[in-house]
Amino acid sequence: MADADFRLDGKRAVVTGAARGIGRAIAERLALAGAHVIIADRDEAEGAILVDAIAGAGGKAAFVAFDVAQPGMVAAAVETIYASHGAVDVLVNNAGIVRNVPALEMRLDDWKSVLDIDLGGVFNCAQAFGRHMVAAGRGSMVNISSICGEVTVHPQPQVSYNAAKAGVNLLTKSLAVEWAKSGVRVNAVAPGYVGTQLTLRGRSNPEWFDTWIRMTPMGRLGEPREIANAVLFLAADASSYITGTVLTIDGGYTAM
Ligand code: NAD
Repeated sequence: MADADFRLDGKRAVVTGAARGIGRAIAERLALAGAHVIIADRDEAEGAILVDAIAGAGGKAAFVAFDVAQPGMVAAAVETIYASHGAVDVLVNNAGIVRNVPALEMRLDDWKSVLDIDLGGVFNCAQAFGRHMVAAGRGSMVNISSICGEVTVHPQPQVSYNAAKAGVNLLTKSLAVEWAKSGVRVNAVAPGYVGTQLTLRGRSNPEWFDTWIRMTPMGRLGEPREIANAVLFLAADASSYITGTVLTIDGGYTAM
């Protein structure tokens, strides 16, 4: 295997939810591998800071604001990106939120907000960018799922998040099979607990945090860059025969 298999020189990669956390680490990793990275997020201020940081490190980056849950905004952003930057080779569907609400207290709008972003957002972007990728006969998508798509985690309640991530796993496999002959690959990574704003509430709650660490054989949280390295592998030609896979990155959580 050549080093070139792990490079993305001359390729354009869109990363949703890239203004901070895991998405930011993915954007930085793909830029380091040579990609022109398009940071897509609702948070314009943080997005602009990341564009400057990547450019300052010698990489290429641009920012496009959109909400993945709004199909109209996604479609408009796709047009803007293709017109301003050219064809997209890699799409990382990373944007996500969590609501820690017990099932019996869950309001319909809480349920819907998580499903609309964490599952609907992945579909909206996969469809809008996939249309171009399938027509071009090439592309690689990586969806950021979670171990919560495979097992329930505790003690925190998060039924909507778990249901959405389970949906992402089968959405990934379904798209992979539909598009397998077109040259477009679709894979997912399923992280365990990572130290980002998404896990802030649990990290500051000793009961939750101690359980998380006890349930993780490696006894620590993952770091965003440990997720980003796997995303690079799935985005790049290094994984050219892999499609429909959900790669777990969890310090052993789901092995126990
Ligand atoms: P984070 O809260 O730090 O960052 C999420 C980013 O997504 C933010 O920049 C936010 O502005 C953006 N975003 C949220 N909703 C959006 C929308 N509708 N449209 C566009 N952008 C939007 O979270 P994170 O921990 O970096 O999570 C990134 C992904 O990783 C999520 O899909 C999450 O479910 C998944 N994940 C996280 C963990 C973890 O432990 N942190 C574990 C497993 C999976």
